[in-house]
Amino acid sequence: MGLLLLAQILKSQGHDVRIIDFVFLQSCKGLRPPSLAQEIRDYLPDVVGISIFTYHYDEALETIDLVNRTTDAPIVLGGPHVSIFPDDFAYDTRISYLVCGEAESEIVSVVEQAKRQSEPMIIRCQPVKPEEIPQASLEPLYGVEYLKEYQIQLSRGCPFQCSFCVIGQTAGRRIRERPLEQCIQELSNAKNKYPQIMSIAITDDCPTFHKERFKGFLNSLASAKLGCMLTIDNLRAKDVDEELIELCKKAGGRNLCIGVESGNVEVFEGLNKGETLEEIKHAAQIIRNKRLALGLCFVIGLPGDNILKHRDSIVLAKAMKADYIYWNMLVPWPGTRVEEWYQKNGGIGEMRNFSTLISPDLSWQTPPVWSGSFPSRDLIRAWLSANLETYCISMRFKNLLRIIKVAREYELWRSAWIYFGGKLPHYLAVNIRTVYRIARSLGPLFLVKLITYHIVKKIPISHHKVGD
Ligand code: SF4
Repeated sequence: MGLLLLAQILKSQGHDVRIIDFVFLQSCKGLRPPSLAQEIRDYLPDVVGISIFTYHYDEALETIDLVNRTTDAPIVLGGPHVSIFPDDFAYDTRISYLVCGEAESEIVSVVEQAKRQSEPMIIRCQPVKPEEIPQASLEPLYGVEYLKEYQIQLSRGCPFQCSFCVIGQTAGRRIRERPLEQCIQELSNAKNKYPQIMSIAITDDCPTFHKERFKGFLNSLASAKLGCMLTIDNLRAKDVDEELIELCKKAGGRNLCIGVESGNVEVFEGLNKGETLEEIKHAAQIIRNKRLALGLCFVIGLPGDNILKHRDSIVLAKAMKADYIYWNMLVPWPGTRVEEWYQKNGGIGEMRNFSTLISPDLSWQTPPVWSGSFPSRDLIRAWLSANLETYCISMRFKNLLRIIKVAREYELWRSAWIYFGGKLPHYLAVNIRTVYRIARSLGPLFLVKLITYHIVKKIPISHHKVGD
């Protein structure tokens, strides 16, 4: 969505923009990603911008290489990776500009003055004012007719100081809240123009920082009757109360995800989250009582963690009866207290290209941290046991043999038997609950809408054909 915001700013200044998001295209079943070289030859851009996330570092290098071989247009790099690791490209002669921070305020001048540089010019951007964040422009997105979820940020930044979080170097610690009427208008415009959008995801760093404001947003969203399901990614447990969750429900709420990080009291207290495990359990209970889908997020390998303490996380995750769980392996981002801890007490390896999650097909990577009390092999064992015992591995035939192999290699027979014994009932229970929730959030005509939703999931409806 960051690219779509920049597209809107450039378009408002009379520029023509095209966006190819290969991560988005991977999720578009039935749409073959285009040849980037061919697109560049056809479109003949004056400037090429590439947004990089650390976990796609290698793909980004390949893309830079391909773009550089295909066109003489100056290349501008941005995205979170460039803000966190600007030195990675500081001497790369293929690159003309490195844009660190939020590019909204600088993108027009960078594009209008862009020319090839002998080495990259670093542009450090100031955080954009919230009222200046534009509405995303969807038209330039390749495959927009496949877009089913609209992501929106009602605010940026987070003033909390969790020990593992890199927010200070990306969106910043000062909360910047957008005018809510503007956000509701944006969602309404997007849904009117692209009726295939069936869900809205709130991706703020800390959406409930001003709880009453957020409740006001939910009220307005419910009144707008957009007929979309609502997902909230980063809900702070301390801010959850009955009224908030009831409003979420009225606004189409379906998935609410809260960060637990660790179920071990000692490890948890070292995180400086500004909330307690008791508050997290209470929030989870309210979400479950209101029959919304509960998501939990854990981090493996936090300072002081080890394979025994990690069992407390698994026990807590099971007790909280989540619908979905993310077991992330810790990444020691530069400038965090977690990085400092590992520099003193363990080791730090490569974090570029590292995916923090085990894939549903049971593949994983070498963790980027280790310590005497939590060596690499134990970290992998912890990762595998958590994913198996909470049924996060998909139930495919080829996985069954793989689980047996993994159980033998990592001495995880107990976890494997728990998985084999409980996966099917868990799968059925989650799916029955999901159908019920979709039915409820879509309203009385849910069956018609549900069928439409599944058809829409498979057959993209071009907005040009539905009265644009
Ligand atoms: S509350 Fe979330 S965004 Fe804020 S510092 Fe903690 S982890 Fe980061």
